[in-house]
Amino acid sequence: AAEEGFDLEDVEGAIEAAGHGPLPVLAVVGRPNVGKSTLVNRIIGRREAVVEDKPGVTRDRVTYEAEWAGRRFKVVDTGGWEQDVLGIDASVAAQAEYAIEAADAVVFVVDAKVGATDTDEAVVRLLRKAGKPVVLCANKVDGPSGEADAAYLWSLGLGEPYPVSALHGRGTGDMLDQVLEVLPDAPAQTFGTAVGGPRRVALIGRPNVGKSSLLNKVAGEERVVVNELAGTTRDPVDEMIELGGKTWKFVDTAGIRKRVHLQQGADYYASLRTAAAVEKAEVAVVLIDAAESISVQDQRIVTMAVEAGRALVLAFNKWDTLDEERRYYLEREIETELGQVVWAPRVNVSARTGRHMEKLVPAIETALAGWETRVPTGRLNAFLGELVAAHPHPVRGGKQPRILFGTQAGTKPPRFVLFASGFIEAGYRRFIERRLREEFGFEGTPIHISVRVRE
Ligand code: GDP
Ligand code: GDP
Repeated sequence: AAEEGFDLEDVEGAIEAAGHGPLPVLAVVGRPNVGKSTLVNRIIGRREAVVEDKPGVTRDRVTYEAEWAGRRFKVVDTGGWEQDVLGIDASVAAQAEYAIEAADAVVFVVDAKVGATDTDEAVVRLLRKAGKPVVLCANKVDGPSGEADAAYLWSLGLGEPYPVSALHGRGTGDMLDQVLEVLPDAPAQTFGTAVGGPRRVALIGRPNVGKSSLLNKVAGEERVVVNELAGTTRDPVDEMIELGGKTWKFVDTAGIRKRVHLQQGADYYASLRTAAAVEKAEVAVVLIDAAESISVQDQRIVTMAVEAGRALVLAFNKWDTLDEERRYYLEREIETELGQVVWAPRVNVSARTGRHMEKLVPAIETALAGWETRVPTGRLNAFLGELVAAHPHPVRGGKQPRILFGTQAGTKPPRFVLFASGFIEAGYRRFIERRLREEFGFEGTPIHISVRVRE
């Protein structure tokens, strides 16, 4: 490294930064209008406008990356939803339940000006049950005179209420320091499984693509649970399913099976549930209705899994209904609409007839193998050397930036750091990714490539 002009410490730092595993997840929960979205905006530094969204507009982005005091984590915002037909308690409970389930720690936001309500008490019971670390945010304390209001919230029994003004930023630093105290470094439930334990699969997809049908098919009809109301069930949300001679943990299956018909916020629930399932899983099986045109919603769900860095399988369902013409157009749509995930293994199934169910497990195993692939540094550099010699970066401004060396900093998904003598253009980065995939496989996994340029 030294002879290439990089400081050894820089190199080690870059490798460590790029190799970070999955980030711990912080959920922000509470009643509507207590200031959750405002607080999330504050935490993520307003890089993405959360609050600007108009009420009633579907928001499907629910997780954001944040950094505080040099530590990175994810924030799940539950502010994008509205009261529904089930009434406020049930809907708060349902959204909080999903978010808490997926989280490593929780910020519980209460409006200090209003004080603790019955709904707040209901959330407290959920939090107790979940046993996750909680930081109590007494929001809307815009000045010193509000601090007495915050003190009343000791009565919730969740420890010290942190007086905060999400709107003005007052007190948020102290609260976030406390969050970092209780937030684990790595998401415990996602990667804490003992070696050889069941792999975690999230079966996701937009409503009516056939998720519950597929689950019933693979798990056996007798295990179907119907007619449960959100917020009233306390059954385990993960289910062990025998498939292909192995046990798999399908995460958040209760969410799939709950037949809740919500008038408002249903899309938001679906997004929150999807995000929660993805966070808990190692591999996402995105189910797509092959009989219908691939929609923006399908693409968003795929993107959610890719951005979360999970292994990915695409399953096209309802294959029994396709005629020749639809099959033709489907292939064209897959090329244009899902071009960014050409690397994902694909299965064409029918939950109704059971067609190609046996192909699901090999596809999942392929994706997980790609996700865990580690390329030895020697092999990687031999490959990079040949690639750079055969296809040099275009000359820019009389200079030719070169990739000098690289290393794989992490797996799950594979993360690479490349060290370069100058700025490497996006096109050339994509070229490297394509060649890496050709050379080493990585079927079914996103890969991350970061480039460090010599100062
Ligand atoms: P959510 O429904 O819990 O996500 O709440 P929002 O973040 O949308 O905030 C609800 C309302 O409370 C908005 O009008 C915010 O401007 C306001 N609000 C949020 N935080 C504060 C605060 O710290 N102080 C004051 N005075 N108002 C706030
Ligand atoms: P979910 O909302 O994704 O859980 O979807 P469901 O499992 O409830 O299925 C939605 C509808 O599609 C139901 O009427 C199912 O019977 C139907 N369906 C599911 N899978 C298939 C399939 O492979 N072929 C056909 N023809 N219909 C299916």
